[in-house]
Amino acid sequence: MSKISKIPHRLYLTEDQMPKQWYNLRADMKDMHDPLINPATMQPVKVEDLYPIFCEKLAQQELDAKTQYIDIPEEVLEMYKIYRPSPLIRAYNLEKALQTPAKIYYKFEGNNTSGSHKLNSAIAQAYYAKEQGLEGLTTETGAGQWGTALSEACAYFGISLTVYMVKVSVEQKPYRKAIMETFGSTVIASPSNTTNVGRAILKDDPSSGGSLGCAISEAIEKATTTPNHRYVLGSVLNQVVLHQSIIGLETKIAMDILGEYPDIVIGCAGGGSNLAGLIAPYMQDKLTGKANPRIIAVEPASCPTLTRGKYAYDFCDVGRITPMAKMYTLGSDFKPSPNHAGGLRYHGMSPILSKLYHDGFMEAVSVEQTKVFEAATLFAKVETILPAPESAHAIRAAIDEALKCKESGEVKTIVFGLTGTGYFDMSAYTSYIEGTMTDYVPTDEDLQRSFSTLPKVPEVL
Ligand SMILES: *Cc1c(COP(=O)(O)O)cnc(C)c1O
Repeated sequence: MSKISKIPHRLYLTEDQMPKQWYNLRADMKDMHDPLINPATMQPVKVEDLYPIFCEKLAQQELDAKTQYIDIPEEVLEMYKIYRPSPLIRAYNLEKALQTPAKIYYKFEGNNTSGSHKLNSAIAQAYYAKEQGLEGLTTETGAGQWGTALSEACAYFGISLTVYMVKVSVEQKPYRKAIMETFGSTVIASPSNTTNVGRAILKDDPSSGGSLGCAISEAIEKATTTPNHRYVLGSVLNQVVLHQSIIGLETKIAMDILGEYPDIVIGCAGGGSNLAGLIAPYMQDKLTGKANPRIIAVEPASCPTLTRGKYAYDFCDVGRITPMAKMYTLGSDFKPSPNHAGGLRYHGMSPILSKLYHDGFMEAVSVEQTKVFEAATLFAKVETILPAPESAHAIRAAIDEALKCKESGEVKTIVFGLTGTGYFDMSAYTSYIEGTMTDYVPTDEDLQRSFSTLPKVPEVL
């Protein structure tokens, strides 16, 4: 039953209605995901193992599967209020364009300079670093959203930040680098001569354009060899999933006010952080038997982690220095084709989401990038927001579900996550518009090749 007769286009919660705690989905999972493994000992990671790499509070959050709700620190809430609560928008114009009886809502996370949801975790991570008295952080960035988000957060809390940015991205997206530098960050094109890993790669191949895995390895080396510095990561980790729960909690409050409950919740999945955050309270309802909405992860056909990956222990980085996680993975050596412009190119998936998918609590679909950009341009025309290519994966799946409703006449309520804006992805839009964009789908042989590099982990630990 709708509490108001005409649902507004945009619903903004008030600051008072904003959640004051993050929700830890693991507390409601009856079957827990497998533990992180320390590759040096082949034993489950202990919290002390993580202290040299991560801030202490964040290391504790990483391994905390019990505490159901965790207070959001006051200082973090203060910065959240600069751009949150984010709007929940009824896609009336998209519904009209599709002539669907479905009701489509989206939660828009692009209302900040970084242009994505990544700021939600960046703020928390920078805050805990400050609280611990650290001087600086290091991280990597590929396309640049994470580096930008963390630069914003570190500038706000007065912490220095060094960003290792994949060299080809520095060349393709010089303005992303400029934004990070505007916030005071040091941006280093990776591979670089500032680390042993970087020097070794350059010695082998002086013209290397770099990769995300290489940038991660450089950032970790820099953090662990510089006094009072730590490393931070913007996706995949349990702590990031925790911070991103703010997206779903706000969505649920807003939907409750509207008297709505989704039949289908949809999100794009790279490392899984926005999806896990968006679905958190709805997954809670599923896990506790209160409701049973469909939950759909959408990934690129060129990097099909959930739909064609293996559920196995793997490293989170190409340099093989991070702990190993049991997750859906294509193998840490997997690289999607260079023709792939649509983001979401990570080889693994959040261990929490991997477990939930494995146990049948959610579905996954993969989509080809020309279909994704078709959805993105339709959405931009009718809803007036230029979506990030990553977000457009969720748009694609939402449109497909809405079109099924058109056929069947069912009035389903669909919610999807619009994770960000695509202003730095215009070369991808151009190649779509000019018709030069191609679709790439790896063959089974391609996948077998990268599966063969999966680490061997004893069955019983
Ligand atoms: C990074 C990013 C994603 C993918 O990351 P997840 O951890 O899977 O959420 C999706 N959309 C945008 C706009 C991003 O910047």
